[in-house]
Amino acid sequence: MSKTVTLEEIQDFKGKYPKQIWYLFLSEMWERFSFYGMRGMLTVFMVQKLMMNEKDANLRYGATQAFVYTMTFVGGLFADKILGFRKSVFWGGSLMIVGSFILAASPVNLFYIGISITIVGTGFFKPNISTMVGNLYKEGDPRRDAGFSLFYSGINIGALFGGLLCVWVGKSYSWNLAFSFAGIFMLFGLLIFTFTQRLLANIGLSPLPHHLSSLKKKVYEWAVYAGSLATIPLILILVRNTRYTDLFMYTVGPLTLLYIFWEMRRFTKAEQKKLWAALILIIFSIFFWAFFEQSGGSLSLFALYNLKDNMFGLHIDPNVINNSANSVFVILFSPLIGLIWLGLHKRKLEPNTVVKFGLGFLFLSLAFFAFYAVRFFADSSGMADMNLFSVAYLIISIGELCLSPIGLSIMTKLSPQRLWGVMMGLWFLASAYGQYVAGILGAGMASADDKAPLVQKLNAYTDGYKQLAIYALILGVVMILIAPLVKKLMQDVK
Ligand code: GLN
Repeated sequence: MSKTVTLEEIQDFKGKYPKQIWYLFLSEMWERFSFYGMRGMLTVFMVQKLMMNEKDANLRYGATQAFVYTMTFVGGLFADKILGFRKSVFWGGSLMIVGSFILAASPVNLFYIGISITIVGTGFFKPNISTMVGNLYKEGDPRRDAGFSLFYSGINIGALFGGLLCVWVGKSYSWNLAFSFAGIFMLFGLLIFTFTQRLLANIGLSPLPHHLSSLKKKVYEWAVYAGSLATIPLILILVRNTRYTDLFMYTVGPLTLLYIFWEMRRFTKAEQKKLWAALILIIFSIFFWAFFEQSGGSLSLFALYNLKDNMFGLHIDPNVINNSANSVFVILFSPLIGLIWLGLHKRKLEPNTVVKFGLGFLFLSLAFFAFYAVRFFADSSGMADMNLFSVAYLIISIGELCLSPIGLSIMTKLSPQRLWGVMMGLWFLASAYGQYVAGILGAGMASADDKAPLVQKLNAYTDGYKQLAIYALILGVVMILIAPLVKKLMQDVK
């Protein structure tokens, strides 16, 4: 294989995908294995081993998710300004490995420090590996969305296996082993990245100006490393004291927006318009994730209390379905949706990104109507089988495919290259807010009394799902109605 592959050669690929996408696919797949493996273990571990009550465990879980996705903004920002995407991915992946092995060494005693290191690491890894996918395509290449859809399948393959394996190993064998799995598979991902990065031409190299001396460059880079290490104790305090979470969330969002507005003034009017379009999509995505992320919260309790272990005649634990159905459907349907977009593109009928987002909300709405309708299939004790519940997961996954991979792709189309990391970070920051609002929505749905009869729980949750379905429908319609306006802001971008 040629060692001196150029960016043009990468971007002039024949066929559907550039081959470099597979390296990024595999690195991200193992990173997501580690991330979702860890995420799947958190609440169970906190309740069973740290003897936390459920409420505290839920709050702390929500906080870690929010902090992870907040750190992606920081990771994206410093990648754009100082480290470049490659070094950021390497640094983030290394921190994730260290965090996981610290947890593996002594999960109970070193829990908070291990989690905090992993949070900072994910912030550096996640946005920047995604941004590099965008780099494989020329501006205007219509194959970019399909590339991000493929990359998204990798995410979900990792998420599925990590989510199933780690918690199972932890519960039935050893938590030390389970946390070490997160570290070992992250190490795989990082090794793949390290050994294939030379095939990425100049993608993701240092953004620092050439005229800076190499000593100066080193000083800047080490300052970022040192600064990110210094953030770890801060995250640790925040994860331990969830009462600061609200304050944190209220301040970070507005500050970030101010920063983006400040950055925007350096760009031309046309570039600014595109950034406004990106911001509109990002703000809508907060609502999408707030509803979607019921899966980790209220839907898992709904599965626990109100669903029988029966799905189309098969006996399966409802929580296993709740935790894995989404990934399975994304993996299965991602190629199909990709083909549908391509087929529509050939007939000049492909909806633009804003309409796709709108469709995402319409599917989300339909899925929540289906979750609501589960109540009509419950017996007198308030228990239903999982048939409709699993169909609802299929629908929500199609909605996710209309919005999430396309969202990654559009961030790289609408932002000037100098802001790719920041905008990708901002895209994920919306997920942080989505997670945060999801927890609040879920808590609002739960019936106040833990010991309430199952029928009452069923009604409380499904009433909530009906509300969400209506709101998602409204948001979808609004999105489709404003599509022409946002399209104007997007100009030549589809
Ligand atoms: N499931 C996707 C991932 O892990 C999307 C996450 C998100 O943006 N909330 O990358």
